[in-house]
Amino acid sequence: MTLTKKIIVFMVVGALLGLALNLTGLNNHELVDQYVVNGLFYVIGQLFILSLKMMVVPLVFVSLFCGTTALRDPAMLGSIGGRTLAFYLMTTAIALGIAISFALLIGVGLGAEIPTDINYVPKESKSFVAVILSIIDNPVKAMAEGNLLAVIMFSILLGLSATMAGKAGEQVIDFFKSFNEVIMKLVMLIMHFAPYAVFAILAKVFAELGVDAIKTLSGYFFTVLGLLIFHALVVYPLLLKLFSGLSPLTFLKKMESAVTFAFGTSSSNATIPVTLRTVTERLGVNKSVASFTIPFGATINMDGTAIMQGVATVFIANAYGVDLTTTQLMMVVLMATMASIGSAGVPSAGLVMLQGVLLQVGLPIEGIGIILGIDRLLDMTRTAVNITGDAAVTCIVAKSQGQFDQAIFDDPQAGVIKE
Ligand code: ASP
Repeated sequence: MTLTKKIIVFMVVGALLGLALNLTGLNNHELVDQYVVNGLFYVIGQLFILSLKMMVVPLVFVSLFCGTTALRDPAMLGSIGGRTLAFYLMTTAIALGIAISFALLIGVGLGAEIPTDINYVPKESKSFVAVILSIIDNPVKAMAEGNLLAVIMFSILLGLSATMAGKAGEQVIDFFKSFNEVIMKLVMLIMHFAPYAVFAILAKVFAELGVDAIKTLSGYFFTVLGLLIFHALVVYPLLLKLFSGLSPLTFLKKMESAVTFAFGTSSSNATIPVTLRTVTERLGVNKSVASFTIPFGATINMDGTAIMQGVATVFIANAYGVDLTTTQLMMVVLMATMASIGSAGVPSAGLVMLQGVLLQVGLPIEGIGIILGIDRLLDMTRTAVNITGDAAVTCIVAKSQGQFDQAIFDDPQAGVIKE
């Protein structure tokens, strides 16, 4: 059995157990709540997510350093960077365009009841200027805080300097190459715990998720869910076929494990080690491209998040009886693109950034309180879409730059982890 199959089986069993606990009301029993749902399940799930997070900064720093030194060419780096950014922005704009048009078309939120007891406390969200300025920072501080953009920048600059530093540079490069292998080994070891962790995470989510909550917000919930699935199964395959000629079916099949990790962790950042492994060892992208595009995408490219933000804005406007003008709608596209760039790849980040979009078009941010209760399941799904987008663009860019191994892509067994 492959590890991914095992993860999926454990995931489904966890979800069913959680649902059973919820439907029987057992999850409200003090002992079950304290020791199982918020005890055992929570601890197992968190330990796993923390272990993945533990790997993110060292992995991004070291693998991107190796990638930069392997390319050795600042012009090539610039061209990869430019193309990647253009594709990331384009996919987000497409996601928003489709999401907002569809939400308007079906009038999501029209006639929805606004609960009188919403207590949504606004959280501090980052401004766009703050995001730009966070690109350069003290590397130790950036690593400690998990500021990936600054880690990416430092790693590229250090890598470029290493290629210019002659013998001293070569010694450092050799050391980092070995270090990179050791880090990947640790990532693999951690991945073997995934089945038990996703079992615990899904059991907890479903135990806590009231089925009634989904029922009352079913219009919003299924619109977002449907659009997320459409984006992953129709938009990415079309773009992939159009710009790289690669088989969308092979791509989607090979994304299975990264998608399950993203779904289980609700965090693009925590999934970086798995996405990186998937695109290099399963899909055939050269490491020097992927080590840049994947962490960069996990930080700035969030099409799934943008879809949620677009639909949520229309939903909240409709629920409060506000008619959005064309200018306001264009503002939503612009703001939601920036908000998805600014959203960190961590659980619920997209909701926090939604505040900025709502404020900009003059909608009440308390509206977020209405959709808060069912966000977790959507967060899991949109995170899976977010990383699928990163991987699709990575394949397109790598192919266009001749940094792609078609034989690996075509081999169904390449990079499969056996249990
Ligand atoms: N959880 C998402 C991610 O990590 C971000 C969000 O939409 O909340 O990609």
